Amino acid sequence: MVIGKPLLTVEQIQEKVKELAAEISRDYKGKELLTVGILRGSFMFFSDIVKSIQVPMNIDFLIVSSYIKTKNKGKIEIHADLREDIKGRHVLLIEDIADTGLSLSHIRNMLLKRSPASLKICALLNKKERRKVDVPLDYIGFEIPDKYVVGYGLDYENKFRNLPHIVTFKKST
Ligand code: 5GP
Repeated sequence: MVIGKPLLTVEQIQEKVKELAAEISRDYKGKELLTVGILRGSFMFFSDIVKSIQVPMNIDFLIVSSYIKTKNKGKIEIHADLREDIKGRHVLLIEDIADTGLSLSHIRNMLLKRSPASLKICALLNKKERRKVDVPLDYIGFEIPDKYVVGYGLDYENKFRNLPHIVTFKKST
């Protein structure tokens, strides 16, 4: 296993988190948010961004798996659903990365059926080139190239999530 050079440093990530939080705070001024973290990958991004969002909020989590490396490609499994009823509420999804878009699209369609007042998506990373389905991203941290990345919550086989920065990752042969 080879970990490459940092793609995004701690400073770059923290600065971007503050920028996104400021934009979200402006957009939701006067409203109350239900901020939903998509676990496990978004746990670090989620905990950083909610600290800087300046509107009243409730928080909740969805635990999902997507099978990007197996023959069940594109299949999304919901391990733990929301505890909150989202009907009539302003929901903001916090995701680590949008890759093919299949996970976010699946989650978005599932949640829209529950009639939220609004539903927006904030993704720290976007790999636009890899998109298979269209999904509207309202807030994007960084556009990144088609490389597998780990750190800041993102894993390889559930490792490297604790790195404070984001690095490219290659499996050695
Ligand atoms: P999707 O392809 O459905 O947009 O992304 C599904 C999930 O695949 C993401 O939420 C993330 O957990 C994982 N994923 C996609 N690209 C990467 C990557 O470069 N690194 C890591 N660690 N996970 C990724």
